[in-house]
Amino acid sequence: MEYNPAHIDNRDIAALLRWYMDSGVDESTGLETMDRFSRPDTPQKIPPTISQAGQQARTVPVLLPVEEIAREAQKQADCCETLAELEEVISNFNGCLLKRTATHTVFADGNPDSHIMLIGDAPGDREDREGTAFAGEVGELLDRMFGAIGLERAQDFYVTNILPWRPPGNRKPTDEEITVCLPFIRKHIELFNPGLIILLGGISANNLLGSTAGIARLKGKWKDYDLKGRKIPVRALFHPVYLLKQPRAKGSAWQDLLEIKAKIGDLS
Ligand code: URA
Repeated sequence: MEYNPAHIDNRDIAALLRWYMDSGVDESTGLETMDRFSRPDTPQKIPPTISQAGQQARTVPVLLPVEEIAREAQKQADCCETLAELEEVISNFNGCLLKRTATHTVFADGNPDSHIMLIGDAPGDREDREGTAFAGEVGELLDRMFGAIGLERAQDFYVTNILPWRPPGNRKPTDEEITVCLPFIRKHIELFNPGLIILLGGISANNLLGSTAGIARLKGKWKDYDLKGRKIPVRALFHPVYLLKQPRAKGSAWQDLLEIKAKIGDLS
């Protein structure tokens, strides 16, 4: 029987949604439907940022080893001298597949001239739709937490993430995705040049402190981030997403916030 959308009734729609759910699809990634099986009229070129030097553009994407893509990310990050240049380089970088499913590249939010840098893991669905780091309910909780110690995002701190693209369905980022994006966040730290770093959640803490310990063990103490020989004080905190699910952990997060407030007093 020929497919005719006018003949679809509610039972068909419910059956289709059930079939999607059984297949593991738990949300839509865009408002426009897209036929991903149709072939583009013009052949796709290999994304320029991951083509090898001197190689002619090819008609099929080539998957390069992750280390090679990370080297390319490093090379491009090394060329940046300002946050604006880094944002442009990241927005044009095609070596991380997360970019294909994301709606926006989420660079940062807050005051780039402040001295406090907060780093989370990756944008969620709200951030992906709006293109801003820590938006929506999670961002509101983050702002309330720091507001409680007298810090306002627009003035006193700056927020970004290890990954600038949302993993589909808010899944945990893979090690490969993190490896490819680490050169960018390291350069982001260097260019922002913070006096204090706050790592939100285990993914951010593990990857920037080079530790495999859980966030419950990493929080509650001061660590250092080595920025070209300069030691920057770092505090790991429970991620606001975790605090929304586990409000009982807020008491312990509050202790960290009080210590952060005291540290800011010492530093200034
Ligand atoms: N979680 C993050 O780590 N970052 C965001 O921007 C939103 C949610």
